Amino acid sequence: MAKPLIVNVLELLRRPGSTKDVDAAVSSADIEFGDDRITDKPVRVNVHLESLTDGVSVTGSVHAAWHGECRRCLVPMNRDIEVAVTEMYQVVVQDPDAHAIELDQINLLPMVRENVLLALPLAPLCVESCAGLCPSCGVNRNDTPCACEEPPADNRWDALDSLKSRLSDSPEG
Ligand SMILES: [Zn+2]
Ligand SMILES: [Zn+2]
Repeated sequence: MAKPLIVNVLELLRRPGSTKDVDAAVSSADIEFGDDRITDKPVRVNVHLESLTDGVSVTGSVHAAWHGECRRCLVPMNRDIEVAVTEMYQVVVQDPDAHAIELDQINLLPMVRENVLLALPLAPLCVESCAGLCPSCGVNRNDTPCACEEPPADNRWDALDSLKSRLSDSPEG
């Protein structure tokens, strides 16, 4: 099986300042997201590797597709996300955020997986202004106005009304 996300960086490490670009489409199954929200669409990885004195920086973007449902109206959603990545790889890991370069290779897969999973929306909305489902009749208010659209009567005055009626019921004196 091809491993497009394993990059040999021996030449980069030998020559600080040198660069390498990775432009790959990887089957989402190969990334093993373990998350139902990720679709079968290939994940596109476009990153630029640059050899620095203390390691190799990896910057660029990852594109993936997810599906789910709107948290308010429950319509199915299919969306693409683009995640900007900025990572550091070191032979001897010194930076706490850096990843290890092992056997002169950088394996981008764990970083791609983690960045995509972190970018998935926890509570997606089909549109910011989604009107949701009517709590009374259940229609999708984005498509269908319903008779229950009237907001419930403002009952701030109920207490006052009942107080008034009690006062008027009570004998004067
Ligand atoms: Zn919605
Ligand atoms: Zn309704």
